[in-house]
Amino acid sequence: MKKAFTFLSLIIPGPKSPKGNLDIFLQPLIDELKLLWEEGVSTYDVSKKKNFQMRAMLHWTISDFPAYGMLSGWSTVGKLACPYCMEHTKAFTLTNGKKQTWFDCHRPFLPEDHPFRRNKSAFRKNKAEYSPVPPRLSGEEVWERVSKLPRIGECEHSQFLSLLKGLGVPHNWNKQSIFWQLPYWSKLLIRHNLDVMHIEKNVFDNVFHIVMNDKKKTKDNLKARNDLKKFCKRRKLEVDDDAIDETNMPTAPYVLSKEKRKAFCEWLEGLKLPDGYTSNLSRCIDTKKYKLFGMKSHDCHVLMQRLLPIAFKDLLPVNVWNALTKLSQFFRDICSSFVKIEDMIQLEKNILEILCKLEKIFPPSFFNSIKHLPIHLPYEAKVGGPVQYKWMYPFERFLYHLKKKVGNKARVEASTYHVNTKVGSLGLNLNVDEESIGKDLPEVFNCNTGYSPSEGQFGYLTEKDYNVAHRYVLGNCELLSNFERYGFNFS
Ligand SMILES: [Zn+2]
Repeated sequence: MKKAFTFLSLIIPGPKSPKGNLDIFLQPLIDELKLLWEEGVSTYDVSKKKNFQMRAMLHWTISDFPAYGMLSGWSTVGKLACPYCMEHTKAFTLTNGKKQTWFDCHRPFLPEDHPFRRNKSAFRKNKAEYSPVPPRLSGEEVWERVSKLPRIGECEHSQFLSLLKGLGVPHNWNKQSIFWQLPYWSKLLIRHNLDVMHIEKNVFDNVFHIVMNDKKKTKDNLKARNDLKKFCKRRKLEVDDDAIDETNMPTAPYVLSKEKRKAFCEWLEGLKLPDGYTSNLSRCIDTKKYKLFGMKSHDCHVLMQRLLPIAFKDLLPVNVWNALTKLSQFFRDICSSFVKIEDMIQLEKNILEILCKLEKIFPPSFFNSIKHLPIHLPYEAKVGGPVQYKWMYPFERFLYHLKKKVGNKARVEASTYHVNTKVGSLGLNLNVDEESIGKDLPEVFNCNTGYSPSEGQFGYLTEKDYNVAHRYVLGNCELLSNFERYGFNFS
């Protein structure tokens, strides 16, 4: 997915999100997609030098979880937020926290003879779990349900609501998505993707806030401990009935002490990573409160997959470290650029046990809807292939690239038009500003890999440095790579 081939149609709707009304903005796109599928459009084929009838289809949509609700028509808030489990979910509302939790929702996915199913003390208090695996609906089955739903703009608001309520089963449908107008939509195995980038960041953030005991963001507070007392059997973590604040809250094994947090921050500050591997992590460390802040998705990605198991090795108890390491391993495996079906089946089993182990460690308040979603990621990778083609990194990076070009923030739309006209010139190397690059330079300089760590200063190269630079240029010119077969080796 190169920048030159990423097209962006922007809607700047104003201060409010269009929410379910997004379908109105999507109508022109759907009309064109229908034309592309049913009739096709006449297109010039450069290789054959003649016209052909091009047909195209929409493969799937890629969005974060709130936008998933806007696109699919299945609202991603509330107890029925999971678009796969639907009404079969075991999510419930916490008495004190007043929020929905997906705690103890994963045992139904385990084999019937799994020991976790019989366990009445580690999960919900005095509750064994013998329910069957929630069914996964096919496209046709989903269509059967949504075909009775009203479409946006089709009827009056009151009639719209009465049609939604009249279905007779608990559901989270808030409309019939406009995508169902596409003739092939019900035949697709995956219509909307769960975004691994956002899920990984959210899971990492929550794990990190709870382990680093970030008072403002942690999910382990007084309300959480009161809920723990109500729903679980963990005497050591329970608070007294008359506790009014968190001062006398028993320390949990998954929370790091101040000394350990200090050790972690110092370790991270002194860490040397390859150039461009992450942003400067030492800038994200608060050395007074010993916590991290302002981490971008990619920093969380690296910390989650590479650094977390090493960082917490000697700081957390073995069972907590073990579960977090397996979670880290899961995200590393799911992001693999080469996917085998048998590996994904194995990952489906692994993530079940990992989530169950996390349920045995963390309080119920930790498990919001996003913590449940990893359970469905191996299925999507099994059907749709490597996650690199279905996650939001390329689009977020493209948006970052566009945002940098906005000159006048009061008139964003004008700046965007300027960028689009630039991006529209296909075939040019768009990673660089054309004005800043001389036309005669070898192509090795026409890319933006690497950067100078400082402003740089004028100086002369020694003969050795000159030779190294010379060989680097020769070794990285595509033009000269043809000569390698004649025995020239420039690197
Ligand atoms: Zn689910």
